[in-house]
Amino acid sequence: MTQAKISNYTNSNNPFLNLNYESALESLGSDYFDEVAAEEFPQHILRWRNDALLPRLGLDPQVVKNEDFITAFGKFEGRKPFLALRYHGYQFGEYNSQLGDGRGFLYGQVRATDGELYDFGTKGSGRTPYSRGGDGMLTLKGGVREVLAAEALQRLGVRTSRCLSMVETGLSLWRGDEPSPTRSSVMIRMSRSHIRFGTFERLHYLQRPDLTKKLLDHVIEQYYPHLRGEKDRYPLFYGELVKRVAELVAQWMAAGFCHAVLNTDNMSITGESFDYGPYAFIPSYDPYFTAAYFDYYRRYCYGQQPSICHLNLQMLQEPLKAVIDSTDMEVGLSRFGEYYQAEYRDLMLKKLGFEDSGFAEADELLELAIAFLHDSQIGYHQFFAEMARTFSIKWRDDPALVMNTSDIVPALGGSAIFDNWCLLYHKILNNFDPDQIGQIAATLAKYNPETALLRPVIESVWESIAQADNWQPFNDLVQKLQAGGDDISQK
Ligand code: AMP
Ligand code: MG
Repeated sequence: MTQAKISNYTNSNNPFLNLNYESALESLGSDYFDEVAAEEFPQHILRWRNDALLPRLGLDPQVVKNEDFITAFGKFEGRKPFLALRYHGYQFGEYNSQLGDGRGFLYGQVRATDGELYDFGTKGSGRTPYSRGGDGMLTLKGGVREVLAAEALQRLGVRTSRCLSMVETGLSLWRGDEPSPTRSSVMIRMSRSHIRFGTFERLHYLQRPDLTKKLLDHVIEQYYPHLRGEKDRYPLFYGELVKRVAELVAQWMAAGFCHAVLNTDNMSITGESFDYGPYAFIPSYDPYFTAAYFDYYRRYCYGQQPSICHLNLQMLQEPLKAVIDSTDMEVGLSRFGEYYQAEYRDLMLKKLGFEDSGFAEADELLELAIAFLHDSQIGYHQFFAEMARTFSIKWRDDPALVMNTSDIVPALGGSAIFDNWCLLYHKILNNFDPDQIGQIAATLAKYNPETALLRPVIESVWESIAQADNWQPFNDLVQKLQAGGDDISQK
């Protein structure tokens, strides 16, 4: 067991510098990281502050000044050390031993008001020993995209990291996938942990079972504390990780989210979703939808995500064998499908209006919905948003009235599967008491936000920023993405 010590901090009026920092990872010793310095940027313009996260840090948004964000998370004054974390990983199936934080570092670890330990990790804070040929920077558009992804996913009930701040930093960057020169930013990501599957893969590569065990003990201590002291804590940990990852991928699938780069260095050991690069939300239900233009073989396409996560968990067994019995891990992994199906079914039935999916026609209703979403290629998010918008108690009276005031019904006209789905939905509603119908409307509204973060929406927000430095559409979009999600909590 590791004893966390309080790390260095400057006593200052800046509330971010006076948080309850713990050097949990640092106290494991220097085998896991390198100390690095932050880039000194020519400019610091605060473009995003996530006030929704401040109460969790014990801070009052009214009291925290923009300057506090800039000093701490743009100028990086008042804190050290910054730790570039070492890791390896399978990237598109190939093992890469040249990885590690190449444009970010662990800024600090904070015990939040919920009692949990959170990482503040940077993205775009300059070069490190792992930058390889890269400049260590994050484009402003990349920062904007990650802020938006995290807020949208949070609203959709996905267990995700969030962005605490984004500061524009005044550099001109050159990128193959953006019109260049392009603007720069530095972001602070608040996540459960930046320990990745690849952090363990590196220790296996280096043949250091001692370091694997030490890190695993740390992971259990901090992120699976209920397993502390259990005789079988190692297999129990792996079994729980399988469950968390299976549920996470089910959450992505229900949300219509394609992460795009499911390399093992982008998989968190806490089962939390993070690192949003070329991601996309699916325009329509298409298992082959592929978000990254460089994913030539559709390895990480939308429909492959469950099997890729399963594979990544299987590959993680290799380094964990140093501590955990292989047979036990196989038993743990064998439950992946069951966990995945249960979470996916539960979430999709909520999207269809049913908090409680214990009714006889539930599976048939879901199967029909997926079949016509696939068949018709109508908007995935649009369909659910329209269901929520047009839902009426009249749907009980006649199947022909189900969704008949929706704009998308003409697109579905003539679809036998859709007609069957309407018939079934009508029948199910009649099995509920009239006074339960309000609950269905509320469930539809809760799980189907109006605004979807489709690519054209992001591009339009970005155009306003790029062409006129107009941040209003971005701020408006964040508000819309967050709307109505107050009681959706991460598990
Ligand atoms: P990612 O695709 O963002 O998960 O990054 C994969 C690896 O490349 C990580 O080690 C990153 O830190 C590194 N990396 C990505 N972009 C840059 C960059 N602009 N400069 C330096 N390293 C980078
Ligand atoms: Mg990454």
